[in-house]
Amino acid sequence: MSTHQTKQRKAITEAILHAPGPLRPNEIQSLAQEQVPRLGIATVYRTINLLMESGEIQAVPIAANDVRYEPTGRGHHHHFLCHRCNTVYDMHGCSGHMSNMLPDGFEMDDHEILIHGKCATCKESEG
Ligand SMILES: [Zn+2]
Ligand SMILES: [Zn+2]
Repeated sequence: MSTHQTKQRKAITEAILHAPGPLRPNEIQSLAQEQVPRLGIATVYRTINLLMESGEIQAVPIAANDVRYEPTGRGHHHHFLCHRCNTVYDMHGCSGHMSNMLPDGFEMDDHEILIHGKCATCKESEG
């Protein structure tokens, strides 16, 4: 791997690591461009695939045609989607007890929760 590729990969990895939640590829691109100004979207996608293969990041499907990426190893957590700024934030912990909601005789393997609403910044800007 060339020095240039290493720098690109580092910038992309750091953008994902320091974000408050999973990022879209175009968000990753604009954050990583602070380190590597001419970073192209094709490189972002290629690096995302490499980081997925190496297990450093994972995909978070938010909606059809909206897959975002976050670091692995953050433990069990859920996400909040702000419908004003379209940012996804990590939430802390889990209220659990989902198995209470299952129909009789069902068994749960896993669950996902996506809360929709307004983030603090958007709520404040509304006055
Ligand atoms: Zn917001
Ligand atoms: Zn949970």
